[in-house]
Amino acid sequence: MDNTNVDRPTFVTHLECGLAGDSYEADTVQRLSQAGKPLLVRYDLEQLGASISKDALARRPSDLWRYREFLPVRRSENIVSLGEVLTPVVALPRLQAGGGQLYVKDEGRLPTGSFKARGLCMAVSMAKELGIRRIAMPTNGNAGAALAAYASRAGIETYVFCPADTPEINVREIAAQGAKVWRVNGLINDCGRIVGQGVETMQWFDLSTLKEPYRIEGKKTMGLELAEQFSWKLPDVILYPTGGGTGLIGMWKAFNELKQIGWIDGPLPRMVAVQASGCAPMVQAYDAGEEFATLWQDAHTVAAGIRVPAAVGDFLILRAVRESQGFATAVDDQAILAAREKAATEEGFLMCPEGAATLAAYHQEVANGRISPDESAVLFNCATGLKYPLPPADQTIDCTQPVPYDTL
Ligand SMILES: *Cc1c(COP(=O)(O)O)cnc(C)c1O
Repeated sequence: MDNTNVDRPTFVTHLECGLAGDSYEADTVQRLSQAGKPLLVRYDLEQLGASISKDALARRPSDLWRYREFLPVRRSENIVSLGEVLTPVVALPRLQAGGGQLYVKDEGRLPTGSFKARGLCMAVSMAKELGIRRIAMPTNGNAGAALAAYASRAGIETYVFCPADTPEINVREIAAQGAKVWRVNGLINDCGRIVGQGVETMQWFDLSTLKEPYRIEGKKTMGLELAEQFSWKLPDVILYPTGGGTGLIGMWKAFNELKQIGWIDGPLPRMVAVQASGCAPMVQAYDAGEEFATLWQDAHTVAAGIRVPAAVGDFLILRAVRESQGFATAVDDQAILAAREKAATEEGFLMCPEGAATLAAYHQEVANGRISPDESAVLFNCATGLKYPLPPADQTIDCTQPVPYDTL
């Protein structure tokens, strides 16, 4: 069954600057607020809450569009979908530290193999709805791949710029899915500058993280989905690998919207922003008690998806972390790779490095007391582990010779 054809009301009232709170018109192309900060989509939550029940929701098809009332697309014909399945929550009993259950939400099952599909199916659907014909984006890989796929499906032209050392598979999948892609000898913020400065000449729409309002709404569905999967009683702690922070900001927005319509109550999960110690601007700002982060110099980590030296939504990430009584923490590459190996060999779960960072952070923070072993915790595996370079496996057998069974 497919519910993308069913027209349902949407409840968007306006857009709002995440910092200053001033209002902007929806239903027209918008980027950042006058203050240069991300715009958040606001809904008539009273009407929204009155229009749907948990029971009605439970009977809908198992995909992201089941949350249609909470989403901005007004007309069903504008929905650009590649089958955004609900992603499973998998228990990791061997890796949990104590009595509190440990889970991983496996976002690698989504189209294009990463949760960037959530944000980009929404942003591209809205681009279609608003008549945008050409899009450009800086990416560390997965966002560009998702953009390429959804935009090709929508018949929108795309230009994608990624750091030269982006995983090879990402660059090729971007090209294979119909985007024009370039490798840039810099980091994602350098790629972002190329996109920003080209807007006038190239007449493209800048779809950089949080520089348009709708990717957050797509990522918000992680929070809606988690709440529904946990029977509207959320776990104690969520560990999120944080780059631009769209998902963390989006989930926090979802929880607050659900709280306002009365679908969840009690304390919300503590949001933990996990970064790599080679690129940890949010951790630095959190520790220093700052509202905004400063540009991280010489960023490096094996977890390409969280190698983001500067995030335009920094204050929204830090606000969510603080409001939720969570914190920000960093793990080093060695711990990330060790955690990936541990999850794969002990639980049969091959994580992406960014997902493995959340596992490493969980163990680190249980050890230093910021997470209790009795708290339930959810990790995020944001992409399939198959997209990333793996350690070599190069043993061979010569089948023309006797097999040396005793040495296997
Ligand atoms: C983009 C990405 C992240 C970071 O997500 P944000 O919501 O932008 O912070 C983490 N892991 C992977 C695999 C990604 O592609």
